[in-house]
Amino acid sequence: MYNFIPTQYQLQSLCCGIEFPDLNWELQCPDPHQPSLIRAIYQEKRLELHHDLPGLYRFADWLPIGRILEGSGSPITYKSHNLSGLLGLEQLYITFNGYWPEKGAHMNTGTFKECEAYSVCARTSNPKGVMVVASAGNTARAFARVCSQNKIPLLLTIPLDNIGALWAEAPLDPCVRIIACEKGGDYFDAIHLSNLAVELDGFYPEGGAKNVARRDGMGTTVLSAVTSIGKIPDYYFQAIGSGTGAIAAWEANLRFLVDGRFGSNKMKLMLSQNSPFLPIKEAWDQRSPVMLPIDDAVARNQVEEINAKVLSNRKPPYAIKGGLFDALSDNGGSIMGINNQEAEEAGELFLQHEGNDLEPAAAVAVASLMKAVKENLVDKKSTIMLNITGGGIEKFKREHSICYLTPEKVFPIHGDPEEVKRQIAEMFHK
Ligand SMILES: [Zn+2]
Repeated sequence: MYNFIPTQYQLQSLCCGIEFPDLNWELQCPDPHQPSLIRAIYQEKRLELHHDLPGLYRFADWLPIGRILEGSGSPITYKSHNLSGLLGLEQLYITFNGYWPEKGAHMNTGTFKECEAYSVCARTSNPKGVMVVASAGNTARAFARVCSQNKIPLLLTIPLDNIGALWAEAPLDPCVRIIACEKGGDYFDAIHLSNLAVELDGFYPEGGAKNVARRDGMGTTVLSAVTSIGKIPDYYFQAIGSGTGAIAAWEANLRFLVDGRFGSNKMKLMLSQNSPFLPIKEAWDQRSPVMLPIDDAVARNQVEEINAKVLSNRKPPYAIKGGLFDALSDNGGSIMGINNQEAEEAGELFLQHEGNDLEPAAAVAVASLMKAVKENLVDKKSTIMLNITGGGIEKFKREHSICYLTPEKVFPIHGDPEEVKRQIAEMFHK
C-alpha cells in the first residue's frame, strides 16, 4: 500500500572492515577477531526524507528495513523558547520522543524505544521464530506494541520490580508473551533469562546494541534534529543506560559528515547517568577503555535507589569496538552524574515551561543540561540538541485508558538453567 522499495545497504564489520550482505539477522562479523559492532552502510549517502511514508519510516534511507509496519511515530524536533530563555541559551533544540500530539509526536508508549522497535521489526532479514527481548521496561512496552499490532512472535523478559512500566493501550495479541525474574532482580537478571531462552530451538535474540536496526532506529533522533535545524548540532545531551543511543547518535553524525550538506563538525556527546549508579561515568572519567569491576550486590543496591530505572545497565557496549568508549573518544564527550532530586526538579521545570511531563531518564538529561550551563561546560551561543528520550506518559494515561500487563511466569534469580529453559519451552508448546 506504500510506495516503498527495501532500503539498499551492506553491513560492515568494525573489527576488520569486511563488507557483507544482511542475509540472516547478522549481529557480528562473519570472521570475528575481537568483540566488535557491525554497521550498516547505506547506498544512499544523502538522506532524503520520505514524507509519503508513515511515522519513523520517513527516515527509511538510513534504516536497514525491508518493509513498512503500522503504528509508528517519529521523533520531532522544535526550537525551545521557554527552557532556553530560562537557561540563557540561544540555540536549544529539543528532540522529543513520546506522546505529544499537539506537536506531532505520536509515540504512544511514550519513549524513543519505539524508534528501535519499529526499525528492528522491519529489518530486512527478520527471521522466522520467536524474537527474544530483555528489557528494564520501556523497551518491553515498545516491542510489545509493535509486535502485537503487526503479529510478530515475541518473548519479553523483564524484572518483576519494573513490571509497572509494562502497560498498553489495549490487550496484547497472544503473539506477545511475557516472563519475569523475581523481586530484587534487575535488568541484568532479565538479560540472563533471555540468554537462556535463545538457547532453545525456534527462538532468536533481538541483539540489543549489536543489532544495526536498533542503533539506526535510535539514530533517527539525530536525523530528525539535523534535518530540522539544518546543521549538525555542537552538543548532544542524553541520559544513558547502555549508551546505545549515544553510539547511534555518533554514527548518525558520521553519516551526515559523508552526506556533506549539514556541516563538518562532530557533536560533543554530553551524557548522563542517575547517581549513585554511575558505572559508565566511573570508567570514562578514568579514560578506561574497559568497564571497571562492579560488585553485583553494590550495583543492585544502587539501582534500587535510582528513579530512572531504565538507566540501570550493568553490561553496556562500552569496550566493544565501535562502542561507547570509541564514540566518546572520537568527539571529546563527557558523562555527568545526576541525582534523583536534581532530576525531579528538572522534570518539574520542563513540565512548567515546555508543557509536557518527562519520563525519569529524560528528566536526568534536562538536569544535565542545566548543570552543564551552570558549570559553563557549554557555550551559550552554540547549537544544542537535547534528546528527550521519553515524555508525555502521564499525559497519555490521562487521555486514554490503559491496561497493565502481567508476566505468565516468574523465575527465581538463581534458578536452575535447565529447569528455566524447560518451563519456557513448555509455555510455547501448550
Ligand atoms: Zn572481522
